[in-house]
Amino acid sequence: MFRFVSEWFIDFWDVVYPNLCLGCKQTLDKQEKLLCVHCRMNLPETGYHREMESELIYRFAGKVKVEHVAAHYRFVKKTIIQKLIHEIKYKDRPESAVLVGQWYGHQLQQECPWINEIDLLIGVPLHKKRLRKRGYNQADCIAEGLSETTQLPMRDDVMVRIRFNGSQTRRNRLQRWLNVETVFRVAKPDAILGKHVALVDDVLTTGATLEACAIELHRAGCRSVSVLTIAATK
Ligand SMILES: [Zn+2]
Repeated sequence: MFRFVSEWFIDFWDVVYPNLCLGCKQTLDKQEKLLCVHCRMNLPETGYHREMESELIYRFAGKVKVEHVAAHYRFVKKTIIQKLIHEIKYKDRPESAVLVGQWYGHQLQQECPWINEIDLLIGVPLHKKRLRKRGYNQADCIAEGLSETTQLPMRDDVMVRIRFNGSQTRRNRLQRWLNVETVFRVAKPDAILGKHVALVDDVLTTGATLEACAIELHRAGCRSVSVLTIAATK
């Protein structure tokens, strides 16, 4: 009886507040989350995770040694991808960030030739001030989704952001790099010693933030660093 009532209540709730597709605003089916099947199928996948050395590796060339770099989707402004990233970062939806991590994790598990080389997933840390404001670190949520689907372990206590440096979006590449240098610290070096760490983030742009994290990980004694993001700019 209780189950029946609660199911009825959920159905009623869905009628009053229908779950809409983030892309086309159509009502989602019960098994669909965030995006309808059509919108999800039309997301611009990069296929980078199928390559041992994707072109994204050149964003780190000559700066820090990075083993593999992959991003699930191409980031294009004013498209569903931008909405998706906005949703997981600014709309107080940690569960959406976990979900997009799961989507990518399924792909990686099936198609990525190097996924089992990874020993540990680590989300790019947020400063505690920003974490308090946002309530969650979207990179950790993505890493959680990746971990659930690939069975790779993830940790959110290994790296910390020690300096609060505001938004990166209005800075050029050099400014961004200067801004992120010595921002990160490995708080638990034992956790990464001799390991292949995959750094996880929402979007790969210039790579300056990920580069600073990778430098710190190498300094602290990890064996190798790879990068996994949900989207990458051109
Ligand atoms: Zn849709």
